[in-house]
Amino acid sequence: MSQNSPSGILPLDAADFGGSVPVLVIGGGGCGLCAALSAKENGAEVLVLERDASALGTTAMSTGLIPAPDSRFMREKGLSDSPEQFAADIMKKTKGQTDPDMALHLAREGAPTVEWLADVHGVPLSVVDSFQYPGHSAKRMHGTPNRTGGELMGALHQAIERNSIDIITDAPTTHLFADETGRVHGARITRPDGTTEDIGCDTAILACCGFAGSREMLQEYIPEIMEATFFGHPGNKGDAIRWGRALGADIADIHSFQGHGGLAYGQGVPILWAHIILGGFQVNAEGKRFSNEARGYSEQATDIVAQPGRFAWSIFDQRIHDAMKEFDDYQDAIKADCIRHAETAEELVRITGLPDALKATVADVDAFNRGEGKDSFGRDFSIGKPLTPPYKAVKVSGALFHTQGGMTVDKDGRVLRADKSALPNLFAGGGAARGISGPSNWGYLAGNGLLPATVFGRLAGRAAALQVR
Ligand SMILES: Cc1cc2nc3c(=O)[nH]c(=O)nc-3n(C[C@H](O)[C@H](O)[C@H](O)COP(=O)(O)OP(=O)(O)OC[C@H]3O[C@@H](n4cnc5c(N)ncnc54)[C@H](O)[C@@H]3O)c2cc1C
Repeated sequence: MSQNSPSGILPLDAADFGGSVPVLVIGGGGCGLCAALSAKENGAEVLVLERDASALGTTAMSTGLIPAPDSRFMREKGLSDSPEQFAADIMKKTKGQTDPDMALHLAREGAPTVEWLADVHGVPLSVVDSFQYPGHSAKRMHGTPNRTGGELMGALHQAIERNSIDIITDAPTTHLFADETGRVHGARITRPDGTTEDIGCDTAILACCGFAGSREMLQEYIPEIMEATFFGHPGNKGDAIRWGRALGADIADIHSFQGHGGLAYGQGVPILWAHIILGGFQVNAEGKRFSNEARGYSEQATDIVAQPGRFAWSIFDQRIHDAMKEFDDYQDAIKADCIRHAETAEELVRITGLPDALKATVADVDAFNRGEGKDSFGRDFSIGKPLTPPYKAVKVSGALFHTQGGMTVDKDGRVLRADKSALPNLFAGGGAARGISGPSNWGYLAGNGLLPATVFGRLAGRAAALQVR
């Protein structure tokens, strides 16, 4: 940002536009590429600006799973679900602290978006029916064959190429040009060598995610996650939120984020939460459990950060290990030698270096699984299956993946002011917009990242195209 404009907003007379496009998309992650595809198919020329040398973003780091209740993929497998049922899950996870209309809207748009990605743009999606994520009342997650965001981004890039859409890379947008009504007239990119270029636009879509890559903003809004391992996209510096605020946008749930309680310690490989859902548990350096791990992986991040040494061990068994092999991330964990093996509880103590208390914890979990005793953390052990030796163990840290607070938008992704009036030609989606996870990390339900990224990408791209037409 230039010194004369800490907000990143410049007046129109400072611009020197070399050209102009009807729809300008800032950020080339999942949201940005969906927005560009949608704008183009709705008849508008579109340009994507991406700060990095490759347009990948957090989306490429993700597992790439998108919830889509009652999609044709689910119906083909006989899985029953409805948008209303999904919206109820979202409201329950957030303890009612998110916008119910937006939750239902996104739930309703999940299936049309997943089917659009698959049928119109050739993204190879299928439903994950091997396990159900915590907080979801149906198996409604959809992913690419190896369940990776890299595959998802690869398929989106192929569609971008087929549609002859231009992406300018190494092009961080540093400023927006706007007038006193809040209308955005273009953007300035500042190249790595310091040269600048100004590009005009009729509409702009902010798809440059949140502020997980900004230590300053994290310190200000989410200090409790500062000690966690950062495993998100470092280029997401909160630019969209800064610009939006300066233009008068309503910013909501700024303290909200997606954490993760299962990042392989020191190795940066996420361990799929299925290892907990299917019956695994976590202990701290004292060999003791410290929370109800099954509530969700996001809130478990801060619970781990609060433990001695800021780490935990995940304990599960061979059955769970085998079930997770369909996921590339888990194959990466195996290849990276993160997963330790123990024939007995005694051996678990030896390989983890944890105190003997671990054996008592294993015995307690066994008893809970047999329906004996009550877990003091309130976990319902009847959902998973009892663990049977041999065991598997992995040391993990709590991680920050991405932030969930941002600009309030309407159902088309149009950015709103506090009085609910819309800014003239500005749209936002994905991590740049307010999510549906409530005010903190405990409201994050698996899929709350890519659902708003893909749905608002599709809807904002279409609305921006219709506006310029
Ligand atoms: C390990 C991991 C696993 C995850 N798994 C899932 C999952 O399975 N399901 C799910 O729903 N969510 C998941 N998430 C969350 C999900 O990845 C994000 O919510 C989602 O990718 C956000 O998409 P986006 O397009 O808004 O942001 P991004 O994909 O981060 O894209 C933003 C882009 O904007 C660019 N950019 C930033 N600033 C500028 C600027 N000033 N100018 C130009 N470009 C800029 C960035 O370089 C980036 O390419 C996961 C996250 C992680 C880290």
